[in-house]
Amino acid sequence: MGKSLKRIKTILSDGEAGTMLTVKGWVRSRRTSKQVSFLVLNDGSTIKTLQVVVPAEIATASVVDDITTGASVSIKGELVESPGKGQRVELRATEVELLGSASGENYPLQKKGHSMEFMRGIAHLRARTNTFGAVFRVRSTLAQATHRFFGERGFNYVHTPIITASDCEGAGEMFEVKTSGKDHFFGREAMLTVSGQLNGEALAYGLGLIYTFGPTFRAENSHTTRHLSEFWMIEPEMAFYDIDDDVDLAEDYLKALVNSVFEHNPHDLEFFNKFIDKSLVSTLETIRDSRFERISYTDAIGILQASGKKFEFPPAWGDDLQTEHERFLTEEHFKRPVAITGYPKSIKAFYMYNNDDEKTVAAMDVLVPRIGEIVGGSQREHRIERLEERLLADGMDLEDYSWYLDLHRYGAVPHAGFGLGFERAVMLCTGMQNIRDVIPFPRAPGTAAF
Ligand code: ATP
Ligand code: MN
Repeated sequence: MGKSLKRIKTILSDGEAGTMLTVKGWVRSRRTSKQVSFLVLNDGSTIKTLQVVVPAEIATASVVDDITTGASVSIKGELVESPGKGQRVELRATEVELLGSASGENYPLQKKGHSMEFMRGIAHLRARTNTFGAVFRVRSTLAQATHRFFGERGFNYVHTPIITASDCEGAGEMFEVKTSGKDHFFGREAMLTVSGQLNGEALAYGLGLIYTFGPTFRAENSHTTRHLSEFWMIEPEMAFYDIDDDVDLAEDYLKALVNSVFEHNPHDLEFFNKFIDKSLVSTLETIRDSRFERISYTDAIGILQASGKKFEFPPAWGDDLQTEHERFLTEEHFKRPVAITGYPKSIKAFYMYNNDDEKTVAAMDVLVPRIGEIVGGSQREHRIERLEERLLADGMDLEDYSWYLDLHRYGAVPHAGFGLGFERAVMLCTGMQNIRDVIPFPRAPGTAAF
């Protein structure tokens, strides 16, 4: 069926005048005069459109009446040089077939310039718009770049469970998994995972280098523009590596992501820079070209306190950094990405490596402009006595962590890893301001339609 079918992206870049071909797509707009109809077609392969000229001889009533904005069509024709500006070639139709009409006035994407809120209400249709087509193409590029990046460095892609009985020590509130009938289907409480890390560590202790890339769930009732209830996370884990290697890996990975968009989505990027965020390209160039700043949490608190800036939450040693603090550091103070290491032990999870000062752990966050935290990671505590000590001090039952402790009982080695929120990376690379607009069908408190 699709053998002679050409995608618009290929036609626009390589198509030669004189070629006969078939193109299928959706009508973005139509203009009709006595002699001729112009159709503007998009097929999702690119943000660019193909102009189709339908001569009056073949412009039957059905072409004129039913091929409206939103309709799907199949068009056979000859590629000709375009006399118009902005395109090299256009298609002179010899056969026009209506595949699916869009019944006139009811099609909700009739006009341009709908609000993002309105688009969220028609999430099943929004992939047909310029903005969301570009977002989802960039999302795909970033996913493929992720697999390429880790694959080329010898990381093994592993699959960790989505249904889990461990809570990754309060990484977030969890969703319970139940059947509609029998309780305790798994013989115990089960939840949707908040992180694949603990399982990932078990695999790294064997494969050396691993990464996960999967869905993650958090039941926090947060209504911010940076949190979802269901989001995707990439979690590499490296045996025999430490916190500095972890920061280096995060920097290389973020740069690879940004590079992939420059390489594969130049037209989408141009569109975002024009219509969504005028500083997008310069922000991405900074990420690509500058070495990330590396500072300690203690120094970061010092900079924030000396800044003279009025923060809603005054920065204090021992408290977690707020988004306003993170954004000040990366956007105003350093004007580039910042990796912060050495957080107070008391605000971090039990599995993080205890530094010699006994006050801080080898945690690291990477902060980027416009987003704040995009990566959170750590060197892991591999010394079993220290793990047990901390769990007991936190009032935890060692039995609940038995397999994780057991893992470190045999052949434990220094290891480190991090989690990158995939949607935050998509926000970063598109300039989109709300995380609900970079995942096709967002799940957030009160939101699970579609
Ligand atoms: P935040 O402080 O922004 O809420 P966190 O510290 O709770 O994030 P981590 O547990 O460190 O998040 O998770 C690793 C990464 O996953 C974060 O750096 C972030 O990019 C992403 N992330 C965390 N929670 C969410 C969420 N609810 N929605 C989307 N991405 C998230
Ligand atoms: Mn974090």
